[in-house]
Amino acid sequence: MKNNSGPSILTCILVLLLLVTVAGCKQPGTAEPSSPPQTQTPPSPGLPVPEQTSENDTKPGAPAPDEQEHVYKASLAAVGDVLIHSSIYKDAHTAAGYDFRPMFGPVKRYIEEADIALANQESMIGGVELGLSDYPRFNGPYEVGDALKDAGFDVVNLANNHTLDRGEQAVENTIRHYRELGLLYTGAYVSEEDRGQLRTIEKNGIRFGFLSYTYGTNGIPVPEQKPYLVSLIDADTIRKDVAKARSQTDVVVVSLHFGQEYVLMPSDSQKEIARVAAEAGAAIVIGHHPHVLQPAEWIDTSEGGKTFVIYSLGNFIAAQDGTRERIGGIVRLDVVKTVKGGSTRIEIKQPSFIPTWIHMVDWRKYKIEPLRDVENEQLPHADDVRREIADHMKLWMPELRMDEG
Ligand SMILES: [Zn+2]
Repeated sequence: MKNNSGPSILTCILVLLLLVTVAGCKQPGTAEPSSPPQTQTPPSPGLPVPEQTSENDTKPGAPAPDEQEHVYKASLAAVGDVLIHSSIYKDAHTAAGYDFRPMFGPVKRYIEEADIALANQESMIGGVELGLSDYPRFNGPYEVGDALKDAGFDVVNLANNHTLDRGEQAVENTIRHYRELGLLYTGAYVSEEDRGQLRTIEKNGIRFGFLSYTYGTNGIPVPEQKPYLVSLIDADTIRKDVAKARSQTDVVVVSLHFGQEYVLMPSDSQKEIARVAAEAGAAIVIGHHPHVLQPAEWIDTSEGGKTFVIYSLGNFIAAQDGTRERIGGIVRLDVVKTVKGGSTRIEIKQPSFIPTWIHMVDWRKYKIEPLRDVENEQLPHADDVRREIADHMKLWMPELRMDEG
């Protein structure tokens, strides 16, 4: 809590005399010290005080601070699967090791310009010392993480069906590297204590919390003694975790690795589990796993909330043939927090989507580019495909803006 620009004691006394209803010499935009914490309001997460109100609040005749409205805004971007098949790491091979950064070059600005950006790290990065490997049990080099950091990602989801492909060691190596890079990871952990520590980021006065779950691990059992290695989808666990995260943050973002591969529409069970997260208090649900795009939707909760859900973001980078498998996208949202009269309202606004294309020539020359920039040799009739993708993604959300910026 910043205090250095607060009113002087003298001003306080003056205000007390003039405004008998004001309980104390408090900062604008903060809750009354004597009032009990509201369920919607996080416990004072270092809320910055908007500058424009710092003078007026203490002037006689100005509205009581609680009546004033303070609006905070932060943007969030998310992408789908970063699935490093062998042709991709071979393509990234250099004399010094691996360099995946150029592959993200054409879309980097969209990731960088978001206040917070998330990716699904589908294949673990256990490093060359474990031996790199392809489907069905993936392992990639650490440099994949370096490229995600360089592209501007802040949070990496590790809960998916490939988390345990190469065992505990690959998970630990992956986590160690993300820790070294200073990137937040969710959904796979090195201990119970690690799992119990909610991942949060505060941007522009809004506190975000991140949780992740996967439907399973391709039949590889999660070690009984180490359930923290990967978070599995379980309605009760999600309810409990989201409610707890909600009490500590303004906005809970839940990543769900779920659905049927190569199916264009969400299943009933995807819809059910997204609703569980929404009803528990998640403001945003980000889905991935089907390797193709599935539409976005608002879920109206029984408590009057409105949760943004995108059921599948498709492949962001992967070596899969087929037009649908080579199209992914960047979803972008504005999160608006309005504080007034001791209550806080969170709204998700301006949802937009930039479809992306995985460029490659004979399983080489990989790069992720906006679909609108795709070359004709890569995708003939690209305009028709773009229209089709737009209709598909907007199916339940006509206001979803496509391909802007
Ligand atoms: Zn998957």
